[in-house]
Amino acid sequence: MISSSWQPVRFHHAWELAEVAQKAFGSLDLRHPLVAEMHRWGTLHISGKLQVLQLPKHYDFQGLRLTPAQTRARLGEFGYANVVAFQTRNPLHRVHEELTKRATQEVDGVLLLHPSVGMTKPGDVDHYTRVRAYKALAAGYYDPNRILLALLPLAMRMAGPREALWHALIRRNHGANHFIVGRDHAGPGNDSTGQPFYGPYDAQELLQRYSSGTQVREQYLNQGRTLPPWFTRPEVAEILAETYPPRHRQGVCIWFTGLSGAGKSTTAEVLTVLLLEHGRQVTLLDGDVVRTHLSKGLGFSKEDRNTNIRRIGFVAAEIVQHDGVAICAAVSPYRATRNDVRNLIGSEHFVEVFIDTPLEVCETRDTKGMYAKARRGEIKDFTGIDDPYEPPAQPEVTLDTVTHTPEENARLILHYLGQHGFVRMPTGMMQNGIKI
Ligand code: ADP
Repeated sequence: MISSSWQPVRFHHAWELAEVAQKAFGSLDLRHPLVAEMHRWGTLHISGKLQVLQLPKHYDFQGLRLTPAQTRARLGEFGYANVVAFQTRNPLHRVHEELTKRATQEVDGVLLLHPSVGMTKPGDVDHYTRVRAYKALAAGYYDPNRILLALLPLAMRMAGPREALWHALIRRNHGANHFIVGRDHAGPGNDSTGQPFYGPYDAQELLQRYSSGTQVREQYLNQGRTLPPWFTRPEVAEILAETYPPRHRQGVCIWFTGLSGAGKSTTAEVLTVLLLEHGRQVTLLDGDVVRTHLSKGLGFSKEDRNTNIRRIGFVAAEIVQHDGVAICAAVSPYRATRNDVRNLIGSEHFVEVFIDTPLEVCETRDTKGMYAKARRGEIKDFTGIDDPYEPPAQPEVTLDTVTHTPEENARLILHYLGQHGFVRMPTGMMQNGIKI
């Protein structure tokens, strides 16, 4: 923490992003999460003497949050000369359990199970779930005289080998003299640079084959399948299953985009009913309705339109996060803003539906009389007339409202959702030529 009574502080101007990225992360690739984040950092570095005023307050799992000194003291009570530390940001499966137990046996020591619970990589299992699972595992499957579970409030930097070294140093400060380095330690995925630091551990190949979190989610949790007991202890499997319900109970956002009068609201209303019939909880965020409360007062300038879309996106993200279905029906004319919303929600849970109705058709329909007004110049910046509409480059679904009725189109979306597991469909049924 930086002292509020400022000691002489040195400002270093114009730090070199490329130099720091290369040295710390070995990469300039923007797909590296920290390299991407660096672009949002300011131009100044601050340095100076640090003084601890107050440690951050944590309200969760307080009994497991130990300072380095507390950790060393607790480890000392076990009475072993050797302490093996295991850093992790993932749930522990049987293979990890085995690995940590063997390492502990090998050095005849005690295990410091030391998961990091700061910010991890997007897509990682949240720490509340993980810690519940660690607790269940530590309590049920380890010799209580050989394990200390403590949490490390450290954000992952995804710096690979350098981070492994740093993690080892931190554990040494917590009283460990051995440190297990697993597969792709702190690796940000495909872009990390593999260094010999990963070490020739026998367990590595095994880890590589069986510890893929993505595989666990896709092949088991998303499909509502229980993780087999040879792979994961039942207590851990149950905790993971609670947080990761099967796909048909996970959240999803169906984002309609298209010109005014294209048929977004009409189709969205039919889809809402169909999804309710299939047992999903649905919130419909209709652009026109949203503008009467959530976005009341916003106009139609580019900035206001973006604000409107971002607000809808924010609410949709919350709904999806809590396993609901959010149907959003707003013109949302700008591609970049729609992509921002997609990123906010997570592409796997975002279904962009392009209602591809030609302008002439929308103008003929002119249900709200808006096109006529825009043509007469009574309203300005009307999408399709004097403000651009940017069609999506790769929407998940494209609909034609000239040759298909709203119901047919809604069923096409339902079908798409069924295929992707978001809706449970009775198999083999056909309606209007569409398998539902
Ligand atoms: P938006 O929400 O895109 O502004 P609306 O759904 O409010 O569009 O309006 C679309 C209008 O077009 C409605 O009056 C609807 O009855 C009419 N319409 C005609 N054919 C279709 C179709 N196949 N799909 C959707 N709407 C259609």
